[in-house]
Parts: sequence; C-alpha cells; structure tokens
Amino acid sequence: MVRTLADVIRAMTPHHAHNVMELSIRGEGNLNLSEGVRDAVLEALDYNSGEWDDDAAHEIADSQVPVYTSDVFREAGLIGAVASVDMSEFGPFDDIESGLKMALYEVYRTAVYLLVEYARDEIESDEPEIIHTACGRCGLDIEGTPGESDWRDRGNNSHCRNGAAHVPAESGE
Ligand SMILES: [Zn+2]
Repeated sequence: MVRTLADVIRAMTPHHAHNVMELSIRGEGNLNLSEGVRDAVLEALDYNSGEWDDDAAHEIADSQVPVYTSDVFREAGLIGAVASVDMSEFGPFDDIESGLKMALYEVYRTAVYLLVEYARDEIESDEPEIIHTACGRCGLDIEGTPGESDWRDRGNNSHCRNGAAHVPAESGE
C-alpha cells in the first residue's frame, strides 16, 4: 500500500504530531495548538490534491498566529520554542506584540516543515530497498530487493547464462 503525505499525518496521534513538530508547549491541554497546525497542513494537502506546496508553510504559519493581543501573549507564553527564535534576524520591532507575532510565525513555520519532512521520511521508508551485489551462481553484477526472487543483471536479464535464476551471493562469501 502506498501511503500519501496526508495518510501519514492523519494517522499520527496528536501527541506524536506534537512531538514531531517540536512545539514543546508548556502544560497539559494545549495539544489543540499543535492539532491546529496539523489540521491546517492536512487542509492544504487536501486543497492541493495531496501534493505539498512549500508556499503553504508560510500561509499556515500566518493563519495560526493569533489576531488578538491577549491571545498573542498567552500563546507565546505557552510555547517554549518561542524563546529559541533568533529575533535578531527580524527586528527591530515597534512593540513586544509585533515581535511575539513574528516569533510565533517562525515557530509555526518550522513546525509545518518538521511535520511534512517527517511524513516524507515515513513514505520513503515504505519503498523497498534495492541492493547491488553479485550473482552467487554466475558472478555477474545484479540488483534486486532482499527477500524477493527477481534479480536483474546489467542487461536486465533475470537468469544466468546456464538458464538458472540469478541469486544474490550470500553476504560474507
Ligand atoms: Zn547469475
């Protein structure tokens, strides 16, 4: 079964997604912050027929930053990662609120990036590993997937010259 990015992300528990996104939110009961990011990623994937568009990270981060001052301060206080954003790249700011909004934006953008990267790695690990070795019978260079019987030489033949099937040489032989 081939999983899509959305399949992988949708199947993650809120805690798992939360950890992958490294939001390090203080206190219990704040998983809804990371769930908001995760749901926005799923929505963006859905909107784009399952394909990930890197521009979506910017839009999602923008949409997650609270509008109201009290929410900005509350959210920035909850998310420990806000403190680790290097603000020297963005400043100076007119006021603390603008700075916190920028920091939240950066945190969410990074969270989106980490989530999508994680899902991509998961899908990559689904793909069978192809190895290159020598045929144990005829010695030709062959490639194939461990555990499967179809091993091909450079001429794309699956058999040795004597008609037997190529087999990978035992490791260590
Ligand atoms: Zn062979």
